[in-house]
Amino acid sequence: MADEQMVGGVESETFSFQAEINQLLSLIINTFYSNKEIFLRELISNASDALDKIRFESLTDKSKLESQPELFIRIVPDKLNRTLSVIDSGIGMTKADMVNNLGTIARSGTKEFMEALQAGADVSMIGQFGVGFYSSYLVAEKVIVTTKHNDDDQYVWESQAGGSFTVTKDVNGEPLGRGTKVTLYLKDDQLEYLEERRIKDLVKKHSEFISYPIYLLVEKTVEKEISDDEDEETKKEEEGDVEDVDEEKDGGKRKKKKVKEVTHEWEQINKQKPIWLRKPEEITMEEYAAFYKSLTNDWEDYLAVKHFSVEGQLEFKAILFVPKRAPFDLFDTRKKLNNIKLYVRRVFIMDNCEELIPEYLGFIKGVVDSDDLPLNISREMLQQNKILKVIRKNIVKKCIEMFFEIAENKEDYKKFYEAFSKNLKLGVHEDSQNRAKLADLLRYYSTKSGDEMTSLKDYVTRMKEGQKDIYYITGESKKAVENSPFLEKLKRKGYEVLYMIHAIDEYVVVQLKEYDGKKLVSATKEGLQLEESKEEKAAKEEKKKSFENLCKVIKDILGDRVEKVVVSDRIVDSPCVLVTGEYGWTANMERIMKAQALRDTSMSAYMSSKKTMEINPDNPIMEELRKRAEEDKNDKSVKDLVLLLYETALLTSGFSLDDPNQFGGRIHRMLKLGLNIEEDEAGGDDTGMPALEEEGNEESKMEEVD
Ligand code: ADP
Ligand code: MG
Repeated sequence: MADEQMVGGVESETFSFQAEINQLLSLIINTFYSNKEIFLRELISNASDALDKIRFESLTDKSKLESQPELFIRIVPDKLNRTLSVIDSGIGMTKADMVNNLGTIARSGTKEFMEALQAGADVSMIGQFGVGFYSSYLVAEKVIVTTKHNDDDQYVWESQAGGSFTVTKDVNGEPLGRGTKVTLYLKDDQLEYLEERRIKDLVKKHSEFISYPIYLLVEKTVEKEISDDEDEETKKEEEGDVEDVDEEKDGGKRKKKKVKEVTHEWEQINKQKPIWLRKPEEITMEEYAAFYKSLTNDWEDYLAVKHFSVEGQLEFKAILFVPKRAPFDLFDTRKKLNNIKLYVRRVFIMDNCEELIPEYLGFIKGVVDSDDLPLNISREMLQQNKILKVIRKNIVKKCIEMFFEIAENKEDYKKFYEAFSKNLKLGVHEDSQNRAKLADLLRYYSTKSGDEMTSLKDYVTRMKEGQKDIYYITGESKKAVENSPFLEKLKRKGYEVLYMIHAIDEYVVVQLKEYDGKKLVSATKEGLQLEESKEEKAAKEEKKKSFENLCKVIKDILGDRVEKVVVSDRIVDSPCVLVTGEYGWTANMERIMKAQALRDTSMSAYMSSKKTMEINPDNPIMEELRKRAEEDKNDKSVKDLVLLLYETALLTSGFSLDDPNQFGGRIHRMLKLGLNIEEDEAGGDDTGMPALEEEGNEESKMEEVD
């Protein structure tokens, strides 16, 4: 894998970049991007991450800092050599780290980032995809990384992109103590990044809130006054411009000279007081926006912010943000998302503390700074920590408050809901304590909502007199449910029905059960009872009686396919529908479960088996069937029609057909019948389907229908 080569007596190994990283590098180098300046933010952000890591390790083992006690980031522009270096005293990398992290191991975001770029995304998004380091090549033709980790020797990584990089043990270089130095050999047209002004502006713009001091090596010119006679020696000693100054002093004329002396010194160029410690009323929107960007690498502004402090027996300060979009890996199960940085008395502790915020709020970004947690807290301790539990409860509360604030603006809420409704629903499912509040944040399309979505609260205000329950239907899409036969009666009665068209809704209703004291009732399950008048009831009873026989006949024909056959209450136009048990799966759930591999099949057999056929006594097909069944119990045409009706009902009720070919065959025979084509004339069964051999063992041919 690595070529070895001797350079100046030291072994140098050459490695190939992993294929996708190589592609990314070519893209970065060969495509024109105007926003090149973000490379500096990426390097500083890596430096800050590395400092966070060593600081965290040092909390439990102070000796880790001995190799370099000071924590800093330094920027060194070198005009002579046209290089820009970013140096940190962070954790550094071992040789293996460097080989893996800077080139040979693919990052999950590499491909996604390239796709995003090709789709027109801005290169400044790079940091979010975990490949920020490579942005160096936006401005540099060559990059050298020197690094020293406590557990290894100092190593040098070097590459001009072009497919490979080398790693060499650094025997002659200046020792770093601990940390990393990234040196960019700037392209000829990128020398602006050596200018003090430009660097200062960039740091202010992108890296102001880095919580380590960032020092810039600046040139200072001091004017020194020297008298004429000193001049001769000075000229030899100091480099610098000398200008003549005529000066009057002590009444007499004496020639004096001013000499400009150039020195270099470190100037701290970022503010240090953390923004969350300041008073919210003194912080401008721009400052929050800048802080958000520095925290998240997001290229867009945040959607909402909440800055608060909790005082009392427990004290902490926090700033929470809702982003505008979901990250590309929001529901990536390989990665536990957590974007809250935990600080203890200003010291960064960690940014993936799972106890700080529930999973469903994993998209919230921000910082929490606690005064009460111990500094040397370990992960194990965090799991049991009572203080942390209280902090978490408060964070959840504030997040929900923030969502309600977003909901005050329709446009914003629409954006928010598109991006994060799945999270809210997950919350309804998981967070029993906040379920009721979260339910208020849900929005659904409905039979009455038009193009807008409605809240449950608004639904309730529109409920008809006498309507006791909240009705919903689940399905694959708005289109798939809005003309469902299950809605016929409900629509006629003027009852609004919510369309629950996301897989997760099935789980939501199971947990939610009711809203505002009103039961959530599925339009496709058993147990749907609609209010009716006495006369309606009486008429129905009579109808029911006259259809009793047909129900029996149908059940006999369908056998185990259905649990029972009853006269329906909910359909107006369609001849029949298939409903599922009140506590079993809906057709939609059956579809979702079928799509999920590796599920427990015994469970699905149990949950999906209970279908009830409901027939519509007012439908002319049913009326005709009833008559025929009355005349002759064994009428073959009845049997064929019932099977066809059953299969059609499977489809209109949202199920899938176990054997679509059989259904197709039946339909084709019907078509021939309608077109008066004789089976023989057409050369037999040209559908390519097997002849209709029914599962009930009895022969049955469509042509026998007359
Ligand atoms: P990310 O920062 O999202 O992980 P980068 O491409 O910016 O992605 O960096 C890749 C990896 O290289 C980092 O995760 C880290 O392990 C390593 N790295 C980069 N810069 C430094 C640094 N200054 N100090 C230590 N490790 C670094
Ligand atoms: Mg990075």
